[in-house]
Amino acid sequence: MFKALLVEKTDDTPRASVQELDESRLPEGDVTVAVEYSTLNYKDGLCIGPGAGLVRTYPHVPGIDFAGTVEASDDPRYAPGDKVVLTGWGVGETHWGGYATRARVKADWLVPLPEGLTPRQAMALGTAGFTAMLAVLEMESQGLVPGQGPVLVTGASGGVGSVAVSLLSALGYEVAAVTGRLEQEGYLRGLGASRIVARADLAEPTERPLEKAVWSGAIDNVAGPMLGRLLGQMLPGATVASVGLAAGAAFPGQVTPFLLRGVKLHGINSVYQPYEARMEAWSRIAKELPLERLEEMIVPATLEDLPRLGADILKGQVRGRVVVDLS
Ligand code: NDP
Repeated sequence: MFKALLVEKTDDTPRASVQELDESRLPEGDVTVAVEYSTLNYKDGLCIGPGAGLVRTYPHVPGIDFAGTVEASDDPRYAPGDKVVLTGWGVGETHWGGYATRARVKADWLVPLPEGLTPRQAMALGTAGFTAMLAVLEMESQGLVPGQGPVLVTGASGGVGSVAVSLLSALGYEVAAVTGRLEQEGYLRGLGASRIVARADLAEPTERPLEKAVWSGAIDNVAGPMLGRLLGQMLPGATVASVGLAAGAAFPGQVTPFLLRGVKLHGINSVYQPYEARMEAWSRIAKELPLERLEEMIVPATLEDLPRLGADILKGQVRGRVVVDLS
């Protein structure tokens, strides 16, 4: 038997509850993992709650990330006792995920626990931290180095935002944090932001295609009108890493920043990164992110807390990174 957060749909409303399940209910896969920690991302909020087209069949176990110890493996790359991490690949969406004390997945989806991280720290990062690192790697590949001007992070008190602020600051960048929760200024400055921008300053669309050029790079977690505004504020040649859509997928804008300032808009997809790219991102973040800052972001939780926290994250009310203890 194992314990899991099971989402069932008997009428139109999905309902999540913690249940004891028989191991025979685990999905197909070549590696069985004793899950020690999981976490909560925006997508998990959707999969615990409305589903939003991500969950196709019920009953379902959400949890897009987990870290734990291999219990059984039919794949030569993993043996019982190995510490492993999983993010993405549709786990927690179309395949049962990490909100359980056992998970069974394809070996291809796993990576070894990065050196220097505990399973708990790996989940304090999770998809959010991994994605923040991918965004930084993308901007660096486009020529971003410290000293070119401030780098903007939107949705800064959220999961991706919190890790992005810490990481950029640890790498020597001047970081401007956009938040709708100005009471989080102390938290964001503690993570390394040197400038706080009120969400309201960027929330309204403008007719002006170009504004004063300020930002040498940007990690955008919210899209909507804010993405249109920040494109018009980028320095010549700067890259915006488009990560999320907390304010809605559509954004207003003109091509003028691309044509007159050579601004670049690059998408980040954390779900289907190949193994080598995953290993590179994980080892870089394990090396560069000060672990004491990671501690400041952690909200500890249990499986029982997840229905409430899942609803909170969809309302933009979770700060930092939830770490779910399944050990
Ligand atoms: P969180 O909910 O933790 O963070 C989102 C933050 O955005 C909130 O904390 C809030 O920050 C801000 N926000 C919320 N609503 C609005 C709004 N209406 N307008 C402007 N800002 C808003 O989510 P995550 O950090 O887990 O994910 C962030 C986004 O990135 C999500 O859209 C998610 O789906 C996406 N994502 C994409 C990935 C990829 O591979 N491309 C991987 C991971 C996440 P504040 O209060 O500080 O303003």
